[in-house]
Formats: sequence, structure tokens, C-alpha cells
Amino acid sequence: MKERKHVASTTTSKYGSVTSPIKYQTLNDIAYENIRERITNLTIRPGEQLVEQRLAEDLGISKSPIREAFRQLEKTGLVYLVPHKGCFVSPLSLNEFKEALQFREILEVHSLSVGLPHYSDQDVLDIQKAERAAERKLAQGNKEAASEFHLKVHTLIVEKAGNSLVEKAYKELLEFTLRRYVVLALRQSSSIAETWADEHHRALFHAIEKRDVGLAAKALQKHLRSIGEQRTMLDTIKRYSAHR
Ligand SMILES: [Zn+2]
Repeated sequence: MKERKHVASTTTSKYGSVTSPIKYQTLNDIAYENIRERITNLTIRPGEQLVEQRLAEDLGISKSPIREAFRQLEKTGLVYLVPHKGCFVSPLSLNEFKEALQFREILEVHSLSVGLPHYSDQDVLDIQKAERAAERKLAQGNKEAASEFHLKVHTLIVEKAGNSLVEKAYKELLEFTLRRYVVLALRQSSSIAETWADEHHRALFHAIEKRDVGLAAKALQKHLRSIGEQRTMLDTIKRYSAHR
């Protein structure tokens, strides 16, 4: 039988807030979630070795759920296992970043193109709400919250296309592959970069409001491509990948 811990938890992610008063988590779940979080928020750095013993002591659990978490994490691509050496956090790479952005563009632009002709007024309002919230947060100088709402605009576009497989691929792409790059971008982004993202979003929203598929797809594409062209971001990724 699996060991279980009884915890009350509120999970808040960029996909919304889920409150479950009682949630049963196995020790494997706890180890997996904890290590995944530390990797994706860059507390454990790209290229770093994960030490079983240290993590076990840290979480107050035995080593076997830690080992199981390593195996699960390997499937996400966040870590890799080297026989007789151990488990290492996958490095960041320019190539991965570019591939991930290309895939993101394919999924988002497709979703917008097939979804937009069927948007109800409520769908447009939902997107507007997230967009306005992002603008408000930016005006208050809270760029982390602004970025969350910006991302919400993107996930809404994917969700509203109503293809569960596309949605699953998109969320995995964001959570496992792109999140570390997003965190990195946030840490160094200037308010100029944020303002500029805001302008792109406004252009995108105007096209959505007009239900102009061609214009909206073009605005979205331009916005997503500009993310992959930020010099400071590319230089930082290069520095990280050189650390291997
Ligand atoms: Zn955006």
C-alpha cells in the first residue's frame, strides 16, 4: 500500500485556482510536485544534480518516493538520469526555446483561427477581462501578476477552440518546457518589454473584437515571434546553457 499524507490544499496556478478542502496525496505526489516546482521556478538550477539524500531529508520522507519522482520527472523532460551517476536537471538551450516557441505558435494560431469565428460575446468578454486585469496590474507595477493575466489570455484562446488534445499538449508545453524560460524572462524583463507586450495584446484584442480571423492570427503571430527575438533573453539562455 502506498504511504499517504493527509493535507488540505489550495492550488493556484496560471490556469486558475482550485480549492480542495481534503486532498489525498501520496508521498510520491508530494515529492514529485515539490521537486517539479523547485525546478520550474529555477530554485534548483538547470544542469544541477539532484541529490536523493538531501531531498529526502529536506522533505522528511524516505528516498524511495524521491527516486520514483525522478523517474516521473524524466518523462517530462525536466530531468535526465545517468546510470551510476544520478539525476540531473535538464539544461536550458536556445534550441529548446526556439522549438517550444514554434510549437506554441502552431497551437495558439491554430486555436485562434478555428475558434474565433465561433466566439460568443461572452468569449470575447472573458478575454477582455483577462486583458484588462493584465493592464491594471502592469499600471500598478506588478509585472508578475501582469504576466499571469497575459498568459491567461493565451490559455483562454487555446481553451476556447475546444480541442482537448491541443489543450493538453499546450498546457504540458507551458508547464514542462516553457515555464523555466518564462520565469527567467520575468526576472530580467524591463518595464519596456512589458509595455510592448501590452501593446501587442491590445492589437490582438481589437482584432478579436472585430472577429477578424486574418488580422487576429497575424497579431498573435507577430507577438509570439517577438518573444523569441528579445536579445537579453537569448543572451541569458546562452549563458545558462554554457554552464553545463
Ligand atoms: Zn502575450
